[in-house]
Amino acid sequence: VFKNVDSAPPIQVFQLTKLFTDSTDPKKVNLGVGAYRTEEGKPWVLPVVHTAELQMANDLTLNHEYLPVAGLPDFRIAATQLLLGSNHTVIAENKVESFQALGGTGALRLGAAFLKNVMNFNVVYVSDPTWENHKGVFQAAGFSDVRLYRYWDSESRGLNFRGMCEDLSNAPENAVIILHGVAHNPTGIDPTKEQWEAIANICKEKKLFVFLDCAYQGFASGNLDEDGWASRYFADQDLDLFVAQSFSKNFGLYNERTGNLVVISRDPKKLTEVRSQMEIQIRIMWSNPPNHGARIVTTVLKNSAYFEEWKGQILIMADRIKKMRQELLDNLKKLGTPGNWDHITKQIGMFSYTGLTEKQVEYLKSKSIYLLSSGRISMCGLTSKNVEYVAKTIDEAIRA
Ligand code: PLP
Repeated sequence: VFKNVDSAPPIQVFQLTKLFTDSTDPKKVNLGVGAYRTEEGKPWVLPVVHTAELQMANDLTLNHEYLPVAGLPDFRIAATQLLLGSNHTVIAENKVESFQALGGTGALRLGAAFLKNVMNFNVVYVSDPTWENHKGVFQAAGFSDVRLYRYWDSESRGLNFRGMCEDLSNAPENAVIILHGVAHNPTGIDPTKEQWEAIANICKEKKLFVFLDCAYQGFASGNLDEDGWASRYFADQDLDLFVAQSFSKNFGLYNERTGNLVVISRDPKKLTEVRSQMEIQIRIMWSNPPNHGARIVTTVLKNSAYFEEWKGQILIMADRIKKMRQELLDNLKKLGTPGNWDHITKQIGMFSYTGLTEKQVEYLKSKSIYLLSSGRISMCGLTSKNVEYVAKTIDEAIRA
């Protein structure tokens, strides 16, 4: 029965990890995957996560019963408060519901299923470029019309704000607009507060449906409130909207699939119906969510000492990334690498969109430095030990 099955194209980011793992070159560097690495290039279990896990392991009142379809109630509340700030008016006015999901991806997929199956929406706009999975997630949910809005300006290596506004202004009513809530992947360029305000106004005027994707709260500035600014601002705008929240990066819970779909409704009374429909969507996709990651997050967020400790550990990650940006830039400057590389320190979050061409990327790969063909690098793959080698190889690629 499988004789007519052709191979699907490889998933680039996982293919890079395989190339990296298989390589025997002692100088190999993986700049592909968006996962935090220590200064020694190792994955990091946050100490506060480890503490919470030990506490959970010793808590004999816990069990492995199914969670409710919508997820762990305490997790949903704590996660939403973290995103919006516990005093946000939409929380006080009961205009928020939330649904535990399988990571940020699951939150996007759940939201997309609801928007397609319940709302009958069919047009979605994603930034050009965007996280490579946005398009597929919405198509899999049945969105047949995936469009791009301009975002990256290769000339200035910054935001094409005018192009973005023009494209959003031309979007049809009820088009779903995916906006990266903080630390845009892959460009590392976010709108300024004034630009966010203008974007929100267009969405309101044109009756567009805003779907924020917030996968990096804490990773841009190191401050959770600051990084929640755009989500909080949109929540203030008297709009119906969704926010997909991920704990993969800021808790280092990549394989625990811990996410939350936050739903804000201008009319709080409608949330009862929304909730019942959302639960149907969950039931047919994953029935009910996994426990472990959500319980870790809840344990940390609800304990003020753990919460403070976690904030410190986020800062360690954010600071190391900033330090690597600076060291990469310093090394390129020292080498006199042709071109302006200031965007490396201007960009924020986990990624830098280097501006390297596909040919230059190939050159780096031939030297065992693995990165996406778009030229995106994960800053987490850099360490003080390999940054010089990476800069030298970029320099060679540029001069080739
Ligand atoms: N959204 C963006 C912009 C991302 O970069 C990522 C992960 O890389 C996700 C969503 C998905 O996060 P998760 O691993 O929690 O599914």
